[in-house]
Amino acid sequence: MHVTNLECSFCHREYEARRLHNVCIDCGKPLFVRYDLKRIGAFLTRQALYARRSDLWRYRELLPVRRESNIVTLGEGWTPLHHAKNLGAALGLSELYVKDESLNPTQSFKARGMSVAVSMAKELGVKKIAAPSAGNAAGALAAYCAQGGLQAFLFMPRDTPRANLIECEVAGAHITLVDGLITDCGAEVGRRKEEEGWFDVSTLKEPYRVEGKKTLGYEIAEQSEWTLPDVIIYPTGGGTGLVGMWKAFDEMQQLGWIGEKRPRMVSVQAAGCAPIVRAFEKGERFADEFPNATTIASGLRVPKAIGDFLILDAIRESDGTAVAVTDEELIAGARELARREGIFAAPEGGACVPALRKLIERGKVKSDERIVLFNTGSGIKYLDAFDSEAKERTPRNQRPSALGPALLT
Ligand SMILES: *Cc1c(COP(=O)(O)O)cnc(C)c1O
Ligand SMILES: [Zn+2]
Repeated sequence: MHVTNLECSFCHREYEARRLHNVCIDCGKPLFVRYDLKRIGAFLTRQALYARRSDLWRYRELLPVRRESNIVTLGEGWTPLHHAKNLGAALGLSELYVKDESLNPTQSFKARGMSVAVSMAKELGVKKIAAPSAGNAAGALAAYCAQGGLQAFLFMPRDTPRANLIECEVAGAHITLVDGLITDCGAEVGRRKEEEGWFDVSTLKEPYRVEGKKTLGYEIAEQSEWTLPDVIIYPTGGGTGLVGMWKAFDEMQQLGWIGEKRPRMVSVQAAGCAPIVRAFEKGERFADEFPNATTIASGLRVPKAIGDFLILDAIRESDGTAVAVTDEELIAGARELARREGIFAAPEGGACVPALRKLIERGKVKSDERIVLFNTGSGIKYLDAFDSEAKERTPRNQRPSALGPALLT
């Protein structure tokens, strides 16, 4: 393949590619895969991609797996870039799009990262993989480990959505529930991995999940005739998708596929857990741990992200911003996406809608700009988050439980 080496995203120390690595041994920051982009650009044209398979492995030369037989896939990626005309009209925007990641295997964009990470783990001889997760990463890891014949060891907060726990259990993963947040789960993996012989695939603590997520950037360009949008609005937890897209844009420019223009990158977080928003507003390059993190959008409940500086650098370099929205706002946003577009979004995806409204109010977007919202997962996995709302909205005497079967006919 065309991987030259790995490189620390912070201190630039180089590492050999064909070995297992987690973070930089000097500075503890994430490692990035580097490719011989000149060579790839010389033979791979954009037109050559059009006839390829409809998943993220269409970008095979730009992914790290060497042998075809090591690819662990369930059809992830190549999701619709949906022109949201109804929501756009309601907001006064003509070019509003939703990248709908709920169509991925296991119903979230975590499938992208896990497909590539599990493939690479398999290629490098790993048998047991461990990860802390707010839910969707665990569900995806369980599925890809089942597909690839590896064992998954998953650590999740006790209040993780039930759908995530059940999908992991049916896929045969080993599950440990932790009284705490994803950071506590991560610490537990860190404590035990050596002794248990687990390979740790925590967000940005191994180099390959971000490679899977970067394909979001390639897809958006390819689906828009190799132009990039003006604004990208991304619900941010650990930030892998945003960091990955930012990497993809640079790669595509080096390949000669796009020019210098970059979208303004907007990071959305929940008001109850907004470390990136706070650091952005304070002008800091690293984000302090956010105390007492709470939000119903479990994928956004990441009080401390190892890739904080990568997220913040991308936001600032692109002249973007960071926005916090309340849980009420993000659930209302998900409901609005469903009502206006028929997309039943995860609460995290729903968060993009009130964030966009705030940008409009603050004069940060123009009515004819091309804007892409990320719906990162499916609302189906968060029924409790919507159910309690549904109950509150339905008058007490009309709730199904209050009606006898005879009254329902
Ligand atoms: C994990 C997750 C996020 C956050 O993604 P990061 O790459 O960690 O920023 C957003 N939405 C959903 C549905 C998720 O599962
Ligand atoms: Zn380093």
